[in-house]
Amino acid sequence: MRAVVFDEVRAVPEVRTVPEPALPADGVLVAVAATGMCRSDWHAWAGHDDIAFPHVPGHELAGTIIAAGPAVTRWHVGDRVTVPFVCGCGRCQWCLSGNAQVCPDQQQPGFTHWGSFAEVVALHAADVNLVAIPDEVDFATAASLGCRFATAFRAVVGRAGAREGEWVAVIGAGGVGLSAVMIARARGARVIAVDRNPEALAVAREVGAEHALLADGADIPAAVAELTGGGAHVSIDAVGSEQTLADAVLGLRRRGRHVQIGLLPPVDGHPRVPMDRVIGWELDLLGSHGMAASDYPEMMSLIAQGALAPQRLIERTIGLEEAARLLPEFDRATVAGMTMIDPRRAG
Ligand SMILES: [Zn+2]
Ligand SMILES: [Zn+2]
Repeated sequence: MRAVVFDEVRAVPEVRTVPEPALPADGVLVAVAATGMCRSDWHAWAGHDDIAFPHVPGHELAGTIIAAGPAVTRWHVGDRVTVPFVCGCGRCQWCLSGNAQVCPDQQQPGFTHWGSFAEVVALHAADVNLVAIPDEVDFATAASLGCRFATAFRAVVGRAGAREGEWVAVIGAGGVGLSAVMIARARGARVIAVDRNPEALAVAREVGAEHALLADGADIPAAVAELTGGGAHVSIDAVGSEQTLADAVLGLRRRGRHVQIGLLPPVDGHPRVPMDRVIGWELDLLGSHGMAASDYPEMMSLIAQGALAPQRLIERTIGLEEAARLLPEFDRATVAGMTMIDPRRAG
């Protein structure tokens, strides 16, 4: 199969022909039809994750099952499927309680094994982790859910519990931030988007932000407090830096809820968090880590009905060669929205 491969931390990624992955007894092989490119792929390439080499990145995918292991009961060759980026073991207390997203024995394609920047990917514990794609939903739309959209859905709905009429401040209008804007708006919340990129803010407005704040050195918490009459009910840091975390937390009203989605890898040093404010104003600090397959049906039915349209966030579609070229610079890629890869496409 053709795949994007790199041989060590920060080595130049190349498209090569490599053997297909082995079929797990409890898993499937999927012919990848669409796979999203994400900053987490860049983190893996840059050495922020524990990965084995040579490595194939990619964790936001959709495709068709081409082989199923003997222990798989729910899925068959030809099924159209997607998968959360965190795949649970299916056996532990967390998986059995519907929380595979925090499984201590989790697998992540593109991290714990070869991922989906390839013609074929292996997925483990298929009966627990796969999600059927409804006929109305195309592969690119389904692939766009796997990491950022599902993570945003979990953050806004499952973790923050954002309600109609509440103010939600979303810091960062990349793929996950724009997803959060769209989902919060669909919940009836009023949304403020913050970003350094005016283009990204324009998209944020299109997908539901009532206000867009340019982070050009301005006092973001003060601006949010002004717009909302005392601060947002919910804040989401979709970037992951000491500055964006502080802006998000300090932009909350008393008893507000903050959800951290943007990754803060220890390699950058642990961020200082304004805990005096957290205590004095009784703020909730929440983490969010993907979403279990068992929580997908609500989101998938809203998409099939057209109430949520993640495909609007797909900015461009590229082939594997272009993906290999882009990966090393993806931490500063400036596209507003998602980059989708079609491994079957030339170039
Ligand atoms: Zn991702
Ligand atoms: Zn588990």
